[in-house]
Amino acid sequence: MVIVIVIVIGLVVGSFLNVVIHRLHTGGDILSDRSKCTQCGKVLAVLDLIPVISFVWLKGKCRYCQSKLSWQYPIVELTTALSFVLLALNYGLRITDYGFWVHAIFACFLIVIAVYDFKHYLILDKVVFPAAILALVYQTVQNNLLWAVLGALIISGFFAFQYFISKGKWIGFGDVKLGIFLGLLFAESALWFLIFAYLVGALVALLLMAFAGKGLRSRVPFGTILGFSAIIFMLYGEAFVRWYYNLLGL
Ligand SMILES: [Zn+2]
Repeated sequence: MVIVIVIVIGLVVGSFLNVVIHRLHTGGDILSDRSKCTQCGKVLAVLDLIPVISFVWLKGKCRYCQSKLSWQYPIVELTTALSFVLLALNYGLRITDYGFWVHAIFACFLIVIAVYDFKHYLILDKVVFPAAILALVYQTVQNNLLWAVLGALIISGFFAFQYFISKGKWIGFGDVKLGIFLGLLFAESALWFLIFAYLVGALVALLLMAFAGKGLRSRVPFGTILGFSAIIFMLYGEAFVRWYYNLLGL
């Protein structure tokens, strides 16, 4: 039963994140504006807004103008629901634990950052700074402030170094700011997260090379890699560190 509740909450929150991602770009009011078709501008009915189900039911097309709906909608909804479910399992389904909710909110921030960077090659201050502040408050409550600050220095420092020596060619300044949030979030595991994220990045680069020219874009923004790596690391970071030690025979 808990799982069902978490899935439904995840899908609804994912649907809201789609609105947030869209409105962050167009500048509309996130809470008061009604959702519209991005092509014909028709205000969508409640029935058009049921996560995933509407997309499948309408065969991925707008009911009014038949224009194709973006795959972003079901992907973000499903990713959010999946993250919430895996997170709940990590907490042994004890969703009354406030840690579960805090990490669910971190996952939401990471999804918005990852998808927004993928679409617009940009990491917005008004998303990444509130996320960093939440991480700072969380670590303070956890009595882990020193490690969190050190983690932020390690990750953002490493990115800033690359940013300055390449004059912004290898890495964007948005990634440096994202590094502050990620460092505060992962604290004493910051270095491990860096290793993990670069492994994920290398894997993605290999896949893109293997499937190049099949409609895939040639390069995925670093913020997208970092965002999705961070969600996986939040869930399975400890397992990754153990696996890595085993690999080294330690
Ligand atoms: Zn339409």
